[in-house]
Amino acid sequence: MNEPTAHAGDLTLRPFFWRATELFPEKAVVSETRAGRHRYTYADFGDRVRSLAAGLDAIGVTEGDRVGTFGWNHHRHLEAYYAAPLMGAQLHTVNVLLGDDHVEHIVNDAADDVLLVDPGDPFETVERLWDRFESVREVVVMSDDVPDTDVPVRAYEDLVAGHDAEYEWPDVDEDQRAGMCYSSGTTGPPKGVEYTHKMIYSHALMVMTPAAIGIEEGDVVMPVVPMFHVNSWEFPYAVTMAGAKQVYPGPSPDAETLVSLVEDEGVTLTAGVPTVWIDVLDYLDDHDADVSSLERIVVGGSAAPKGVMRRYEEEYDVSIDHAWGMTETMSIGSVSRPKSWMADWDRDDKLDKRSKQGLLSPGLEMKVVDDDGEEVPWDGDSFGELYVRGPTVAQEYYNRPEANEEEFEDVPASDESGGSEAGRSSARWLKTGDIVTVDEDGYVEVVDRAKDVIKSGGEWISSIDLENELIAHEDVVEAAVVAVPHERWQERPLACVVTREGADVDGEGLRRFLTEEFPDWWLPDDVAFVDEVPKTATGKFDKKTLRERFEDPELRWTPGEE
Ligand code: AMP
Repeated sequence: MNEPTAHAGDLTLRPFFWRATELFPEKAVVSETRAGRHRYTYADFGDRVRSLAAGLDAIGVTEGDRVGTFGWNHHRHLEAYYAAPLMGAQLHTVNVLLGDDHVEHIVNDAADDVLLVDPGDPFETVERLWDRFESVREVVVMSDDVPDTDVPVRAYEDLVAGHDAEYEWPDVDEDQRAGMCYSSGTTGPPKGVEYTHKMIYSHALMVMTPAAIGIEEGDVVMPVVPMFHVNSWEFPYAVTMAGAKQVYPGPSPDAETLVSLVEDEGVTLTAGVPTVWIDVLDYLDDHDADVSSLERIVVGGSAAPKGVMRRYEEEYDVSIDHAWGMTETMSIGSVSRPKSWMADWDRDDKLDKRSKQGLLSPGLEMKVVDDDGEEVPWDGDSFGELYVRGPTVAQEYYNRPEANEEEFEDVPASDESGGSEAGRSSARWLKTGDIVTVDEDGYVEVVDRAKDVIKSGGEWISSIDLENELIAHEDVVEAAVVAVPHERWQERPLACVVTREGADVDGEGLRRFLTEEFPDWWLPDDVAFVDEVPKTATGKFDKKTLRERFEDPELRWTPGEE
């Protein structure tokens, strides 16, 4: 028998690329772009990925470098998803919706070497922050040409056109870092999570199996979840591996664009946060559109509303796969589908099951732990924090040893490596921060969140950042920000504020004050002026009481009101 070579069995992205380009060269990749709808084949994609790698190599990108991306879902971004990891570099996707301070922190913390940036708003952010970036050597604008700017930039298409498609992939190891994404669902600054080749390989295969999502070559898949969110839930990897046609909605993924892509391209499977699918339903109510090709929508990132699931099923014959996951679990970690023996249950009972966060995906293990560290029974009532582990669950945060101790179980106190152990073999439990119940059939349901953050339309808002800024206002004595339910965005921030006696400040004034620091979508929709913020026995803001008290919108001030 031959001695195994170092790479023979390695779980890297190379066979993904090989399979798509060699076995399905004729399959299409379609993108909506500012310049119109773009389409090419997997064969073209393969050539361009190699040319991009050669171009990145020519501008000095080497093994271990970080290639940051700052853009929406389109074919160029897909090319970067493959070129960077296959050449031994690390793809670091940065969220274009974040405020400037977070973008600056993330790019500097990761020490990105090169940034591939969408034209328009994303480029303008980079332009504003250029003097504050510490490590970025090159900016490549993902376009045919470059904007008029003082930032030294080059055009993506020049980089690709200037290099032929002969680039040979170096050997990469499965434990090499291939991806990186920051999580903002945290009370401190965003935390980096790194993905090795092996993790991406394992997770993409998990997504492909019918036990999770199930993707077939005959599917036409439109990932709406942004490519800057946990590798677009791994769809660009899983779908390419499957050899399926893929459709990307580009820089303005509004309901009209999505519906027209479904109609024109025959999309069968799509994925995104609930807000997107609520908007699409509203659009379909008012327009005559044919979405009959659509079979399934994967909805996650926030709880899928039952009424929305029901409407898609009853009115459009589209089934919703409700999925749960985190940046730290490489996105999808559970999906809710009835088990085979539930097939003859009536529709409502099945919907009750399917609107839970569901069954853990194959490859993972979980336990649910109460405040005393005891595991709670699976009775559908007892709740505790969900812990998960497995080969697709992060083992640590990049550069944040103190967060490792807090957010993972069994981290030895001496482990202050802060970023060197992505490939360690025995899996640690990740403390998800999600408070859940598990029913007798093993279905997880998220009932609360341990952390003080708000998720609005799939994007995080830090209540603590808002509170710190509000308290800096000269008329504010106390400020607590809580999440209140919202039909379209699932959650929106409500600021509960105690003002100084005799102060003359209103809700609009406070929102104006916050605009200086935060993007518009962070601003509290409502402000409640209270005499005192209720406190717990330990003197902390009692946010549970506030959430309950102000669930009724009548009790809050809303913009536009006197
Ligand atoms: P992120 O790291 O930004 O992907 O956010 C992960 C968090 O989003 C989870 O810990 C949950 O709090 C929340 N989340 C994700 N999917 C769901 C879902 N299907 N239902 C409820 N919450 C979810």
